[in-house]
Amino acid sequence: MKIVVANWKMNPQSIREAEGIFKNIRKKTLKLKKTKVIVCAPTIYINKLNSLCKKSIFVGAQDFFDQEKGSWTGKVSSNMLRNLGVDFTLLGHSEIRQLGETEEDLNQKIKLALKNKIKPIICIGENVRDDDGNYFSILEGQLLSALKGIGGIFSGKIIIAYEPVWAVGKASKKIIKSEDLLQITLFIKKILMDKYGAEKLKKIKILYGGSVNPINTEDLIQNGGVDGFLVGRDSLVSENFNKIVHIVENN
Ligand code: PEP
Repeated sequence: MKIVVANWKMNPQSIREAEGIFKNIRKKTLKLKKTKVIVCAPTIYINKLNSLCKKSIFVGAQDFFDQEKGSWTGKVSSNMLRNLGVDFTLLGHSEIRQLGETEEDLNQKIKLALKNKIKPIICIGENVRDDDGNYFSILEGQLLSALKGIGGIFSGKIIIAYEPVWAVGKASKKIIKSEDLLQITLFIKKILMDKYGAEKLKKIKILYGGSVNPINTEDLIQNGGVDGFLVGRDSLVSENFNKIVHIVENN
């Protein structure tokens, strides 16, 4: 099964618009056989959008707080999401890390997600790509601290999204080359294999995120070694997102 995740971030600005985009995306998911689409929407829209889900389309969260319950004004817990019927959540997105999320906070959230039967889509990625290849050890560090204390029994429940920060969002100047992506995918797989073994590794999906659009999707899915994508900007333009999903389904 391949996966395409939409990260809507703090968009769109009304539930009406959200429903419109969601329904446009949903239309094209009804015939999917090999691809699952997960729309990670603002928390406030999740309940409504969840009621519109059919077949291959799911609604996910974008984050939650790292405590189970209590006096945490403005926060949302993993248990609340579970009770809304949420099956997936992004965690460790670079925009959340920039707001101060630590490796320990992220690890705690991943444990809470799994405890509440929510599959975490764990984002990792280097800020810059240096010539000496230091990004490899950065990625390894991020991955291992995120998965600290998480046993192989959960291998079918975690999704890794490689999102190099330099390629994410409209400030990004570049998109990754598919051969560089393949190198990273293999590197991530090697770390996961050392931790969990070959059989468990097969159950872990690896996605790429960072300026994915209808033009670069085909090369990245054919040559990048990934199981799908995490899409930011183009997930709000249903026409573009549907093209990305279509290419993934057919490759
Ligand atoms: C993201 O923010 O997760 C992302 C991948 O954004 P974009 O596709 O806009 O680069």
